[in-house]
Amino acid sequence: MVYIIKTNNVTKCFQGKEVVSNINMNVKKGEIYGFLGPNGSGKTTLMKMLTNLIKPTAGEIEIFGQPLTPSSSYDVLGRIGSMIEYPIFYEKFTAKENLELHCEYMGYHNKKAINEVLEMVHLINIENKPVENFSLGMKQRLGIARAIITRPELLILDEPINGLDPIGIREIRNLFKLLCKEYDITMLISSHILAEIEQMADTIGVINKGKLIEEVSMEEMREKNTEYMELVTSNLTRACFILENRLHLRNFKIIDQKIIRIFEQSVSQLEISKTMILNDIEIESMSKKITSLEEYFMGLMDKEKQDQVR
Ligand code: ADP
Repeated sequence: MVYIIKTNNVTKCFQGKEVVSNINMNVKKGEIYGFLGPNGSGKTTLMKMLTNLIKPTAGEIEIFGQPLTPSSSYDVLGRIGSMIEYPIFYEKFTAKENLELHCEYMGYHNKKAINEVLEMVHLINIENKPVENFSLGMKQRLGIARAIITRPELLILDEPINGLDPIGIREIRNLFKLLCKEYDITMLISSHILAEIEQMADTIGVINKGKLIEEVSMEEMREKNTEYMELVTSNLTRACFILENRLHLRNFKIIDQKIIRIFEQSVSQLEISKTMILNDIEIESMSKKITSLEEYFMGLMDKEKQDQVR
């Protein structure tokens, strides 16, 4: 297996406070790695270390199989496209002028690339518009265009989907898939919203309070997803009583005032609904479901919380 990014116990402290703790991240060649975590969990800080914007307090980083050090960084950084935090541009310049400047700075000379890349991110009819008149979503697209224009081998994008509308999200998601498949670009993409990266990531790394609490392939993740039955009733207390005492079920969970999730498979849906009706419990609906990545993610966070209390 070839790894494009490997970190070994990477830690970062700000004013003595540890905000990234002993991270061991492994990003495989050619994959989209979704880096998930709530706001403030340390995603940007790690990405800044990966792009040499800040130095780790402890630990080592390997990119393209080479240790990342201040002296080796120029070579390595030329092979990485990145967008970390809010993209900054020359506001009075147009998108094209901004991209031209970037290409010059990177020593990349391919005039055709600018139009190509603007088309790829669906930035059209912006010929004479200065960037200061762009919406957040448009700036985000331009940031992505700037990150990919030099055809890097590795893309590091911090919350690239921020500010895009649902159509924009779909377009950019498809673009990322295309870049990964057709151009063989490895991607590390952070997000605090699961649904945004669930559909494109090959591997998911979950960070919480500076710690990487899970690194798992989507394939394994899908296997972990469990089936359950969701029962909606306005008579929740009695329904729970029946599940426990008539049907002898133990593995169920109350979700809110009306919803119960039954994880045990020993009793059929038909039998549960029959028993409820016989006991005068009105069922509003009952359906089979699968835990989503979101629930799995929330479960991990809850587990972390509980472990900390212990
Ligand atoms: P995320 O990208 O997941 O939202 P960040 O990496 O931006 O999280 O932040 C992680 C933590 O580190 C936060 O508590 C943030 O306040 C803190 N932090 C980030 N940068 C600095 C800095 N330059 N000085 C002090 N604290 C910082």
